[in-house]
Amino acid sequence: MKRREIFAGNWKMYKDYQSAVDLTEAVVKGVKAKNGREYIIFPPSPYLRDVSAICSNGVYAGAQNMFFEKEGAFTGEISPYMVKDCGCRYILIGHSERRHVFGETDKDVNKKILAAFEASLEPVLCIGELLDEREKGDTEKVLERQINSAFEGIDRALMGKVIIAYEPVWAIGTGKVATPEMAEDAHLVIREKIKAFFDREISELVPVIYGGSVKPDNIEGLYKMDNIDGVLVGGASLEKESFLSIINI
Ligand code: PEP
Repeated sequence: MKRREIFAGNWKMYKDYQSAVDLTEAVVKGVKAKNGREYIIFPPSPYLRDVSAICSNGVYAGAQNMFFEKEGAFTGEISPYMVKDCGCRYILIGHSERRHVFGETDKDVNKKILAAFEASLEPVLCIGELLDEREKGDTEKVLERQINSAFEGIDRALMGKVIIAYEPVWAIGTGKVATPEMAEDAHLVIREKIKAFFDREISELVPVIYGGSVKPDNIEGLYKMDNIDGVLVGGASLEKESFLSIINI
């Protein structure tokens, strides 16, 4: 079975309004959209509405984060419904910078996935181990814990809307990319854990994409692997040349 392929760019806290608009226009114009492939831009929240209004040609917008409550006295937060209202289709959940800079827990991640579905958003769940966890041989244990916790209480029927991004924390923004073989191994572990949690059909259905220092010069090796269904790109998604050369592979 051929799975959906996902090519996504996370702009983190970069860009001003005009460069966000210009880059989105350049991506929409330059993408050679392929059947079965989805393209996602995750801009900073203030630009979501304008970026999603420009998106077309198989390119969609998503938010980098949200709170799990619908509304309330939560100063500084944005709700799933606000994200949806801005025209977004996707929501990034549990990015390593949310987990490790802002202290987001596995429980928060689970609540956000439930909240995303309530607002008809499609979650892109980020999971991945820290360097010392990998060095201790705990990668599998960490991925299992993050998966089991993230999907607690999630209806199996909704899993067709989930994307998982394997992002080893030691590879994000560091220039240290996992080798294609390391990423493939981790993706196979992820599929095993999904199979144990749900079943084989779901484990074969869910796209698992890789993130961590993906660049034009390493995309080919990663993309060749059977269980890498696309990529989540940080730094290299900030320039049209590098992002287009990755997503047009
Ligand atoms: C990311 O932000 O999810 C990411 C993978 O960043 P980078 O590509 O810069 O490592």
